[in-house]
Amino acid sequence: MLESLKKMFSGTEGEVPVNTGSKPDISREKSAELYAKAKNYFPGGVNSPVRAFKSVYGTPLFIQKGDGCYVWDADGNQFIDFCGSWGPLILGHNSAKVREKVTEVMQNGMSFGAPTALENELAELIISNNRFVEKIRFTSSGTEAVMSAIRLARGYTGRDKIIKFEGCYHGHTDSLLVKAGSGLVTFGETSSAGVPKSFADETIVIPLNDISAIEQAFAQFKDQVAAVIIEGIPANNGLLMQDVEFIKSLERICKENQALLIFDEVITGFRLGFEGAAGHYGIKPDIVTYGKIIGGGLPVGMYGASTEIMGHISPDGNVYQAGTLSGNPVAMAAGIAQLTELLKSGFYKDLNAKATEFSESIQRFATARSYKFKVFHVGSIFWFAFTNKEKIQTAEDIDPASMERFKIMHRELLNRGIYLGPSGYEVGFVSAAHTKIELEKAKRAIFESLDVVFRTK
Ligand SMILES: *Cc1c(COP(=O)(O)O)cnc(C)c1O
Repeated sequence: MLESLKKMFSGTEGEVPVNTGSKPDISREKSAELYAKAKNYFPGGVNSPVRAFKSVYGTPLFIQKGDGCYVWDADGNQFIDFCGSWGPLILGHNSAKVREKVTEVMQNGMSFGAPTALENELAELIISNNRFVEKIRFTSSGTEAVMSAIRLARGYTGRDKIIKFEGCYHGHTDSLLVKAGSGLVTFGETSSAGVPKSFADETIVIPLNDISAIEQAFAQFKDQVAAVIIEGIPANNGLLMQDVEFIKSLERICKENQALLIFDEVITGFRLGFEGAAGHYGIKPDIVTYGKIIGGGLPVGMYGASTEIMGHISPDGNVYQAGTLSGNPVAMAAGIAQLTELLKSGFYKDLNAKATEFSESIQRFATARSYKFKVFHVGSIFWFAFTNKEKIQTAEDIDPASMERFKIMHRELLNRGIYLGPSGYEVGFVSAAHTKIELEKAKRAIFESLDVVFRTK
């Protein structure tokens, strides 16, 4: 989603170069009609910018239905989907388990604005299987979870400044819509109009995977930093795997400075394993945020921490946070059904093994042909990068010019029935619904598409 910020105001549209691939372009007639209509209603014709296909060729596909690892668009084209609604659908589309539970709970009404047993049930599932949170709050989106976590960190520490990393996306909270200026440790510059400079001034932006930058930031802003926020594993601007020593040093430096470490696990939570990136590293963040998978495809977010820290949230404490639809029973039902599946023995082992095999065999193909192409992957998350670099760990490591190749690949893949998120900065997800058969089919399409990309460029 981060890339959408960069491209939001500069997207070119409509120019689709001549198809030089070996497959005809899919029909997008109905999608184009719907898109033309949508533009009358929504800015850019969409309700979230990256959906507008500004970074790839052609009009956005309007999706009609999904089932398992497949989606169908308005023109009847069928795709094997690796976007998974940007992460939530770890069981695939229209999971029977989720659908049945939601349908059952819906019979009793949609919302009460009063506590329900379902909130307890989902909370118990999470807390009893997660070493990193003792008390939690449900919200209705990842953005809301992060926004609340930041407020909690500020309220708890009595400090205002936040440290964030260039290349991490945390939703569209004002104080986090900032990018690095020039220099190692800088005040954020707003990356969206409408964010007051005074807000951005409370956010310090530094590069990922750089211990000296974090040390310098704390030296420069001694006793002013409320929290350091980082994505569990940064996966919104490429997949930027961090050195474990870097994450460990974050934990140590935060402790030394009585600042809180916030793990934004909206994308990695329940994805890398039930305990997300915190479990993956074996590191205890002070506050954790979740979203995406936790709602089984319905709008849910969550933040959690120790009982002591969460004691600062109202009505127990003086940090205000609320929500008309927070803990919505239908959304809770979807979360309960989905997380119950994830807790079954061997779930992550099977999923991750499947995704690893998928990523590694694509890499073997590209390496054998000496293509400038790497598949970075962790758990069931993968990212295609047109690079020769062995590691990409910071936003700066990504060559923007390489995105031209992704555009070609995206088109070739659509023409072969494979749907990836419409931007080369976005990661892909393998779900439990992808079987060996579909993954083999997808691989073949990816091999052919890579051949086209490296033939034309
Ligand atoms: C998706 C995402 C968010 C924002 O969540 P929304 O539900 O889109 O508001 C925040 N942080 C991370 C790491 C994310 O991946």
